[in-house]
Amino acid sequence: MNHPENDSQYTGLTVNSGVQQPPIVNPYLTKRRRKPLPPASELVEGILKGDVTILSRAVTLVESLAPDHYALAQEVIEKCLPHSGNSRRIGITGVPGAGKSTSIDVFGLHVLRDGGKLAVLAIDPSSERTKGSILGDKTRMEKLSVHPGAFIRPSPSAGSLGGVARKTRETIVLCEAAGYNNIFVETVGVGQSETAVHSMVDFFLLIQIAGAGDELQGIKRGIMEMADGIVINKADGDNVGPAQLAQAQYRSALHLFPPTTSGWMPEVLTYSGYYELGIAEVWEMIDRYFNFVQGNGYFEAKRQQQARWWMYETIDEQLRKHFYNNERIKTMLTDCEADVLANRRSSFAAAAQVLNSYFDENNI
Ligand code: GDP
Repeated sequence: MNHPENDSQYTGLTVNSGVQQPPIVNPYLTKRRRKPLPPASELVEGILKGDVTILSRAVTLVESLAPDHYALAQEVIEKCLPHSGNSRRIGITGVPGAGKSTSIDVFGLHVLRDGGKLAVLAIDPSSERTKGSILGDKTRMEKLSVHPGAFIRPSPSAGSLGGVARKTRETIVLCEAAGYNNIFVETVGVGQSETAVHSMVDFFLLIQIAGAGDELQGIKRGIMEMADGIVINKADGDNVGPAQLAQAQYRSALHLFPPTTSGWMPEVLTYSGYYELGIAEVWEMIDRYFNFVQGNGYFEAKRQQQARWWMYETIDEQLRKHFYNNERIKTMLTDCEADVLANRRSSFAAAAQVLNSYFDENNI
């Protein structure tokens, strides 16, 4: 097409005709096929060699909800199991803003200072942030994310707490088989995820901050009771005094709790993640704990107890899934619910009817 500026009145200027703009969406992308998954043996071999790409693929497989991935994932986990267990599993919790990311970044570097490897996993069933936002998590831990010994993985995407936690538990097995001898599991510290984390770690660290009025307010007693160590972050500048006051309050509160099964007396320390003050002391406490529980046999006993807990937890989960996903049961439940609400039948009679029908169907 002849451009208006090619008119004779604009001498000395020639405008070439343009080229057609390419489409915004790359047409070749749609043709891309999902790479077929390698067999379990190949995945396991890569994991045992410490190949991070293969480890990531295997973790994605474990997290997958696709039914045809389940058997392969279980086979990989089973084969990795004999190579797992050789690590320190540490749970880290604290309310948003307590400084978990900042602290994990510096704790992580501290742990890796003499070599070794660290995997940072998370359990956050509520968060939309977790939907594939690896970048989000990586920028939260700036130094660790570029450390060759660190593997950072965001929480499996939102789902039931039990499901999300189980996937993280299985990911621990894969990471350990890949040689990660330090595992951090982070939670947001506001809900039930702490119990799930507690069921998969050896040491549970609670990060708190001072200066929020009554220090013990708003902290769930249950979470405090689970903690093997409480650390007051942001003990820097004007905040040193309040942090020490909080430390004293936590110490006296802990004395009111019944003694722990391990025999370990939880310690309370102050530190500053941002200014990197007191980090070594926090880690010395964690070392003391591991020496203590490895010495008195509690370490092994707790891991066995956790393995047993997960077996029953998985059975519970699968039974529920099988029951509630049954189409006939779904219809029956709707009818029974209406009957119960209208007082036509008692809750117990309705429950018995549905259960019996389920047992009959499955020859139980
Ligand atoms: P998270 O939500 O628990 O992961 O907390 P972040 O690590 O994102 O920290 C929340 C805010 O607290 C950020 O603005 C940090 O810079 C700040 N912060 C974290 N650690 C410290 C610390 O030790 N001292 C001070 N003064 N600020 C800190």
